Parts: sequence; structure tokens; C-alpha cells
Amino acid sequence: MPLTNVQTRDVDAVLHPYTPLHTLRQIGPLVLESGKGVYVYDTHGKEYIEGMAGLWCAGLGFGDEELVDAATEQLRKLPYYHLFGGKGFEPAIELAEKLKSIAPMPVDKVLFSSSGSEANDTQIKLAWYLNNALGRPEKKKIISRVKGYHGVTIVSASLTGLPNNHRDFDLPVDRILHTDCPHHYRFGEPGESEADFVARLAQNLRDLIEREGGHTIAAMIAEPVMGAGGVIVPPEGYFEAIQPILDEHEIMLIDDEVICGFGRTGNWFGATTMGMRPTTMSIAKQLTAAYVPLSAVMLPGWIYEAIEAQSAKIGTFGHGYTYGGHPLGCAVGVKTLEIYERRNIVGRVQGLAPLFAARLERLRDHPLVGETRYKGLMGGIELVADKATKRAFLPTQGVGPRTARFGEANRVIVRAIGDTIAVCPPMIITEDELNELFDRIERTLDDAEAWVSAETLRTA
Ligand code: PLP
Repeated sequence: MPLTNVQTRDVDAVLHPYTPLHTLRQIGPLVLESGKGVYVYDTHGKEYIEGMAGLWCAGLGFGDEELVDAATEQLRKLPYYHLFGGKGFEPAIELAEKLKSIAPMPVDKVLFSSSGSEANDTQIKLAWYLNNALGRPEKKKIISRVKGYHGVTIVSASLTGLPNNHRDFDLPVDRILHTDCPHHYRFGEPGESEADFVARLAQNLRDLIEREGGHTIAAMIAEPVMGAGGVIVPPEGYFEAIQPILDEHEIMLIDDEVICGFGRTGNWFGATTMGMRPTTMSIAKQLTAAYVPLSAVMLPGWIYEAIEAQSAKIGTFGHGYTYGGHPLGCAVGVKTLEIYERRNIVGRVQGLAPLFAARLERLRDHPLVGETRYKGLMGGIELVADKATKRAFLPTQGVGPRTARFGEANRVIVRAIGDTIAVCPPMIITEDELNELFDRIERTLDDAEAWVSAETLRTA
């Protein structure tokens, strides 16, 4: 199909992130115009269920008037200010207070930034600064995980354990180590139970730390449930097994709640759902229901005190972003958290989770589906060439991305992470809408199966 005028203008001017750029001109971008509830509409007025809440972030869906009003009011009152040089404003104070009160671990201070990548970059800078402050200048390495996703700035991309985020970007930078991905379906050995798999991963982590020297490792960063690596839910007991090993070596646990935070997994934070004991936390995305960019790092008192002491030695704390804690983001964040509480969004996710799980489990019989996995309202559908052997399609066959495009034809937006189809709807979705979402996904998988068979991709 020839591109429409707006599609042509788009590809002529916009460089699209995370897009196979070489095929975009043939396929054409999907240009969206508006949204309401769990639906978005393209420039032809065609309606789609947003099955990914955008990028795991628009937890309250689209067109929420309360958020629009909160933003407008703040824009009128104080459209911009910053927190540098000891300046402050009420929305930042109120949001930080609120975050302290709901955090699942002791939090003394909240340091704002704008994106998840910036928050994680800040985490690593603080870990280095902290260990200099504490007189442990050799304790600087950071452990991340294969398939972990922590963003795309230079250090955050280095933490990210996905080859395409490193290849040809000259990453990762040094001092970043990657340990195993806790995905039993893919990385469990034949016949290995989940418990044995967890024990093996814990031993591997211990070996890595001992090989490197615990005194050289500052922190481990982990998402409670891995999102952009393919919606990977660690097996039962995973964090309980690794946490004591970190404790033994005084290695902090940085909890990346950028996706899991604010109800997504059925608790305020994924750490609670998954049994993590975080030292610090990164938050973003659903913090503002994605209406305005805002992220933050939450820190316990002992880290803050060390940073404060160091700033006394140096004369300042030399870090901060122009838009970190933007008043618009903070005002919308305050309103978002109030809405989550008033509308009992956590309870809502808990109530919807069994239906979400049942619909995903039903897909396991589909000829194209190797595994489905889920937690709360976060799910993944892994497509395989051979269900019995778990053989994957070749990446060059593009089965995942093509399936996501069949989704668009079926009026559902999902995301292909390789050959895993991610599903993460707005948390305001109703039962009927959730059923409709999965009906559309089922039609999408049938279309993909018909295409895979017609193209004989299994024998390629
Ligand atoms: N951390 C996690 C767990 C994420 O999923 C993401 C983005 O998806 C990030 C960090 C990076 O966030 P941003 O894209 O806002 O930089």
C-alpha cells in the first residue's frame, strides 16, 4: 500500500526509536491521533485497544480529565521551576512526601529526574559517589542481568543486558557485569526443577562475586519482573536466594521499578510482589500515568547522609537535571497517586489478574505459543517454531514483529520483543475490555499462524 500523506511526512522527518528503520518506508508508520480510556485512534479514526499502555506506562489510559486539569492548573500557576541551589515548590515536596510514605523500604530522600534511563544513570553515579564518600574507592562494579532492561543512556544501556543495545554503540562500559537471566523456560537445563534452577543461579552469582571480589562490587540492579527483556517472571524464591549473597558482600540492591511500580504487579511495588528487599529504587512511567515525563530515585537515610557529608567536603552536590522534578510532572504525579488510591487501582489489578492469567494460559494450546507468563497485569506470549523442543524462529524471519502488525490489523496494539508478544494494558481496563483485548490477540495469533504455515517458516 502506498504511504498516506501523513505517513510520508513522518518518515521524511522523524527518526523512530526501536524501529527497523530499513523497512519503515515500505511498511509505513502507524500515526495515532487521539485516545480515550483504553483505546487509541489513528488518523483515519480507526480504533485500537492499547494493549501495552503505550510503553508499560499509561496506567490510567488516555483522556483522563483529572490529570489534564491538574496539569493545566500547574501550568497556569508555575509552569517551570527547578530544584537547583535549594529552590523548591509545593508539588515536588508533596510528591516526595507521598513517595516516602508508600515506599516498601525506608526512604529518606527522593531525587527527581525525567526518564527511567536518567534515574538508573543517577543510581550508578550515586553508588560511585557513595563509595568514594565511604572511603571504598575500589567498590564500584555493578552487577546487572542478561535480558535486564534499564534504559539507553550510556551507563543505563550498559546495564541493559540485551545485545542490540550494545552492538555498535561500543557498550557496555567497564565496571558493568552481567549475571544470569532468571528465565526457567529458556535457561533451565533439561529436567532441572525451578528450585534447582534458582539454586544454580544463586551459586553462579556467588561465584561471580567471589571471582571479582565482593569489595569491588557496589550494587546489583534488578527489575522485580523483567519487562523489555521479554516479560520474565523470576521463579519462586529467586530474590530470597540471591539477597543474602548480596548482603554478605555489602552489595546494595537497586530495584528498578520503572515498569513494575504503582500497581502493575498487584501491589504498589513489584518488590513486594516478588520478595525483594531493595536498598534504593528507581521509579518512572506510571508515576505520572505517563501524562508527563518524570522519574525519581528513592534513597535511604544512610546513603543520603554519606552524600551530604561528601557535599560538605566538595562544596556542593554536583548532579541534577534542568527538568528533574519539573513542576508539571510533580503536580501530575501527585494527582496520579491520589487517583490510584481513590480508585483502588492496586485492588483493581488484583481483581483482574485471575482473568488476565486465565486468558494467557488458554493461549498455551495455540500452535505458535511456547510459553505464556504473567504477573498482575503484565504478560508475555513467547512464539516458537516448535513447541516440543522450544526451538525459536530465526530472528531474521521477524515472526514477533510481523505478529504485532497482524495485531494492528485486528485493532490491538501489542509489542514484539523478539518473538515474545508483550501485553500490559492500562490498569483501568474493565473485564469486558480485557476479554475483547484477548479475543483480538487470539485472532492475531491465528493470522500469524496462517502466515507462518503459508511461508513454511518452520522448515526454513
Ligand atoms: N528501566 C526499566 C525497567 C524500563 O522498562 C525502562 C523503559 O522501558 C527504563 C528503565 C528506561 O526508561 P526510559 O525509557 O524512560 O529512559
